[in-house]
Amino acid sequence: MEALTYDRAQAYAKEIPPEEMATWQPDKVMKVLLEIEPTADRSYTLRIGEEPYPGGIPTKMHTVGTDTVFSLVELRKHYHAVGSVLHTPTMQQMERAKPLDAAKLRMRLEAITQSLTKSLESPIRNFTFGNFARLPCKRCGESIRKRLPTGQHPVEAKCFSCGAPYQVSLLNDGTVWWEPLTREAKCPTENCSGEFVLWLDEVKIGTHWSCSGCKKPYRIEFGISPDTGAE
Ligand SMILES: [Zn+2]
Ligand SMILES: [Zn+2]
Repeated sequence: MEALTYDRAQAYAKEIPPEEMATWQPDKVMKVLLEIEPTADRSYTLRIGEEPYPGGIPTKMHTVGTDTVFSLVELRKHYHAVGSVLHTPTMQQMERAKPLDAAKLRMRLEAITQSLTKSLESPIRNFTFGNFARLPCKRCGESIRKRLPTGQHPVEAKCFSCGAPYQVSLLNDGTVWWEPLTREAKCPTENCSGEFVLWLDEVKIGTHWSCSGCKKPYRIEFGISPDTGAE
């Protein structure tokens, strides 16, 4: 079950931050895949056909095959139930535990084997399709690639290289708009007209910089202001 889920995740590997991927349990991996693509855990049939002209609808489609995906529902149903018999129970668990129902466990294992076999025998594997938007990161220059989920706009995107956050939306004319998620503040130095633009992930204690106008260094610290009722 783990191997199949991680294998499915490989199809989306470029869309998942690698350091996050390393520590996840299968059900968490699958949930992240579903956030990327709501149909990631559904089985699908791949058909191809020749377009009569670019963009035209093919008159004849050929079925390539069906990929039976081991779904999140199956994973939830079985994963922890089987996991609990893999490890020796603690003494407290032994005292409280119901006696192991071997017949029931066998039935479960047989159901899992059946699902896994069906999935492994799929003639095609791990196809993904999607609309992708690309942008060189405005902070570090590395390329960011983000899948645009259909009918669900806007989406948040993050540079995998430096972590810079963006909001990505699809405009009516079909172009993709990348909005860097930032906060602005005016320089507190008297008579300085400098403005600071901080990325959202930089708005935290300890961030420091120098004003480009007055050259004075500033840093973010804890602060308390009178409550004027304003947001
Ligand atoms: Zn970046
Ligand atoms: Zn300044």
